Amino acid sequence: MRYLIVSDLHANWQALEAVVHEAAGGYDRALCCGDLVGYGAEPNPVVDWVRANCAVVVRGNHDKVSTGQEDLEWFNPVARAAALWTLQNLTPANIEYVRGLAKGPVLLDGFQVLHGSPFDEDEYVMAAGEAGQAFGYLESRLAFFGHTHVQGGFIWNHSRVETIPATSARSRRQEMEVDAECGYLVNPGSVGQPRDGDPRAAYVLYDSGTRMVAYCRAPYDVAAAQEKIREAGLPPILADRLSLGR
Ligand code: ZN
Repeated sequence: MRYLIVSDLHANWQALEAVVHEAAGGYDRALCCGDLVGYGAEPNPVVDWVRANCAVVVRGNHDKVSTGQEDLEWFNPVARAAALWTLQNLTPANIEYVRGLAKGPVLLDGFQVLHGSPFDEDEYVMAAGEAGQAFGYLESRLAFFGHTHVQGGFIWNHSRVETIPATSARSRRQEMEVDAECGYLVNPGSVGQPRDGDPRAAYVLYDSGTRMVAYCRAPYDVAAAQEKIREAGLPPILADRLSLGR
């Protein structure tokens, strides 16, 4: 089975459209590691696509806060403004869908799908030390996670945890074979708001038959997404950061 795995879409339809276009024909099922909404100006097209196309979806922290399931107090003012705007602009059917999303991890086909960390969906797995702790909670040797908006992840080889570097700015695709003896926490990166210094939309393709993971980056019309954010009256920094990938 060939999978398209996306995470942290953040209501950026321009970015998601580019990913869908570029990945077309390269996968059988799509999966989502959460944060469909929040920050971007087009939550409805993004949620509509996920509803129609993703076989498994876990919720992210922005999905909970933007649909009134969790208190806004832990969010910074910019994220809070975006969450309130999202709640006002999602259709009732999409609010209901996002509220009903599963809490990760979800196990399927020999791997897990989760948002933050296997023991806490809101926890960030940023560094090898945190990943080392997270590996202890996995029920499978391979897991896909998001939340940090940094493409790459971690490999556990029994003695230590290594960081998987993000795809080089010069390439659009970087492949990695999954060794059945090791543990993998694979972060597809963020579709809608990358924070690893590369503004291109990030995603992963995984073939469970060949055990190959392909880290991919898709260039998209960043200016159009920025214009939508400004027009919507969302905090301007949410537009500015898209061109920096920070
Ligand atoms: Zn996110």
